[in-house]
Amino acid sequence: MTETTRRDEIAAGLAEVEASIAEACRAAGRAREELTLIAVSKTYPASDVRLLAALGVTDVGENRDQEASVKVRECAGLDLTWHFIGQLQTNKARSVAGYADVVHSVDRPRLVTALSQEAVRAGREITCLVQVALDGDPGRGGARPADVAALAEALAVAPGIRLGGVMAVAPLGEEPGRAFARLREIAQVMRDAHPGADVISAGMSGDMSEAIANGATHLRVGTALLGRRKPLVR
Ligand SMILES: *Cc1c(COP(=O)(O)O)cnc(C)c1O
Repeated sequence: MTETTRRDEIAAGLAEVEASIAEACRAAGRAREELTLIAVSKTYPASDVRLLAALGVTDVGENRDQEASVKVRECAGLDLTWHFIGQLQTNKARSVAGYADVVHSVDRPRLVTALSQEAVRAGREITCLVQVALDGDPGRGGARPADVAALAEALAVAPGIRLGGVMAVAPLGEEPGRAFARLREIAQVMRDAHPGADVISAGMSGDMSEAIANGATHLRVGTALLGRRKPLVR
């Protein structure tokens, strides 16, 4: 496919996503400016990220360090904000701390320690979100709701780290709006204790409007912008 065609394809995806966001904002009585759109570029090449950037996208999300670290280098000079949104092993903390501006997936104390240490080593400040397992099952990543406050406290005092707020993926088999309503309550409790922690990262291609209706500040959108991903072979 030629670059021009791909550019048109991505521009059309972006226009559709922006139209959906505008409609959901109208319905929820919110302003577009309250929301940051994160383009999730996993499995797609750096050339797509360049096209997104040329179309005005400023925030990019990746979920695997191996892929992200290469892509970030390939996109040098674009002045993008990079979000790490995937499950993170502590042995990848050094690499991720080298390029991620925001880590959405902090779900255990050891990760706080590792990211803090590596942020300080790199001389960077990393905004960290506590990922919440809204179904209470930490198996697929995310902390139990009962563990969120302690993790937030640990992030709030960790050198090199700024506590940003919360992140969640809507559990399968539950109406996303119900799940995101719980996330909003958890976010409110966190903000009462940590007034600066105002990020609610929620909403993907399939549930953006439910997330917007429930106070999301950051949307993580891949498929609706770049197309259906090929199944990942690991
Ligand atoms: C892949 C991914 C997304 C984007 O999902 P789409 O359905 O493609 O929009 C959002 N959040 C996380 C954590 C992801 O891994």
